Amino acid sequence: MGYTYILRNMTGTTHQMIALTTAFWVLLSYPVSLGPILAIIAIFAVMIGALTPDLDQPTANLFRRTLGGKAAHKLFSAVSGGHRHFTHSILGIGAVALLFHWIIFQFIQPAFHPQAFIILFAFMIGYISHPIADTLTDQGVPWLWPLHWNIKIPPGPEELRVTTGSFVELFLVRGALVVVAFLLLSGHWQMLIGLFK
Ligand SMILES: [Zn+2]
Repeated sequence: MGYTYILRNMTGTTHQMIALTTAFWVLLSYPVSLGPILAIIAIFAVMIGALTPDLDQPTANLFRRTLGGKAAHKLFSAVSGGHRHFTHSILGIGAVALLFHWIIFQFIQPAFHPQAFIILFAFMIGYISHPIADTLTDQGVPWLWPLHWNIKIPPGPEELRVTTGSFVELFLVRGALVVVAFLLLSGHWQMLIGLFK
C-alpha cells in the first residue's frame, strides 16, 4: 500500500500531549503536593522537556523565533550530531540530566535544591517521553548513538508506524491521548488538584 508509515516524526504538540499524559501517569504512582507556583512551573517543565530533544531540528521553533537563534542552532546541531542523534539517545538523556544536575549544584542556593530537582524531574519526564514516542515513527530512534542503529517499534510492517502531521497523527493519535489522559485522571482528579495544594 502507498501509506508508508503512519507517523514520520511527531509534531511538538503531540509530543507535549504525550509528555503530559506520561506525567499524569507518574503522578498517579507518586502523588505530590507542590503548591500552585511550583506545580505550574513543573507542568511547563514537562512541556519544555518534551520539545527539547528536537532542538537539533532545523525547524525547531525556539531557534526560528528567537534572536541569534540561527547561530545557537548551528552550535547545538554541531554538538548533537544532527537531527535525532545525540539528543534522542540514552547517552544524550544521561548527559542532559547530568548537565542540569551540575547547573543546579553550581548556580542554585542549597535551600532551593528540592524545588530545583522537582523541576528537573518534571523536565526529564517530558524529555524521556519524547524519544520513546519517536520510536513509534518511521525514522525510529538511535537509542544507542553513536551506534548507527535506529530502533523502531513495531519493526514492521511500515504501515503500522506513524507519519507526521498526517490524519492519523492529528486525529487518531491525539484523540487517543486525550482519551488515555481522561481515563488516567477519571476517579483521580483529587490527585491533580492535590498537585497544586
Ligand atoms: Zn524527536
